[in-house]
Amino acid sequence: MSGVETEVGRLKTDAVVVAAGAWTSRLLMPLGMRHPSLWIRGSVGRTAPLPIELRKLVVWGATAYRQRADGRVNIAVSEDGFHDLMVDSFANGHRFLPLAWKNRHLLRLGLGRPMMQSLMGEFADFTTHRTLDPRPDWRGLKRAGRTFRHEYPDAGDIRFERAWAGYIDYMPDELPVIGMAPGVQGLVIAAGLSGNGFGIGPGVGRTICDLVVTGRSRHDLSAFTAERFS
Ligand SMILES: Cc1cc2nc3c(=O)[nH]c(=O)nc-3n(C[C@H](O)[C@H](O)[C@H](O)COP(=O)(O)OP(=O)(O)OC[C@H]3O[C@@H](n4cnc5c(N)ncnc54)[C@H](O)[C@@H]3O)c2cc1C
Repeated sequence: MSGVETEVGRLKTDAVVVAAGAWTSRLLMPLGMRHPSLWIRGSVGRTAPLPIELRKLVVWGATAYRQRADGRVNIAVSEDGFHDLMVDSFANGHRFLPLAWKNRHLLRLGLGRPMMQSLMGEFADFTTHRTLDPRPDWRGLKRAGRTFRHEYPDAGDIRFERAWAGYIDYMPDELPVIGMAPGVQGLVIAAGLSGNGFGIGPGVGRTICDLVVTGRSRHDLSAFTAERFS
């Protein structure tokens, strides 16, 4: 590894870490590496303060919710994976799609704006969308709100004050890729955290540090190799 090409010129370095979340597969493609993650849209809505007290984090059926200190409740859609079909769904995901087909009862496919954007080449460069900010899945959120209301009738009407969404870089086996990239000295990959990134982030960070500084990890990373998809 000799460096990184950036918008402000080339940076020379012996070690590069690709931990670019949903962008990882696109960044690795020019190096001939397949990172078959699928963009899965995750959506969360925040209610107004509710007249109930909910002291626990609940993952129940198709929803997950937690009350904030101010009484508002964050309600997430967790019913299944929502994938916006894009050009890369087919180009990059041909190993993913058979698995997706097998698990099709867990996957919803959307065909809309993201397909148009990808056809226009908007995801092909790395500057048009610096922040991926997909639209929340309002239908899923409304269903999640109804489920919540069913569980907590005293909460009254569920109206969302705000909602947001993000793309999760989802691997076919739900495991991340963590390790030295095959065939490119000094390149470390830490991506494909598949909806578990908050939980495993600190351990992944420590492992990246070990790989860059010492060239090895104190953990057995054999389950997380990039080669498992080659
Ligand atoms: C709605 C939602 C709910 C979630 N809930 C949970 C949860 O409850 N628990 C959990 O564990 N996980 C959850 N996740 C998943 C979690 O957010 C991810 O697993 C985690 O953020 C992945 O971390 P990361 O550092 O790999 O990638 P990211 O957090 O995506 O970070 C990648 C970074 O790289 C930057 N980047 C990309 N390309 C470039 C480039 N070319 N140059 C420079 N920088 C670049 C991006 O801007 C970004 O800042 C949720 C995700 C969503 C969307």
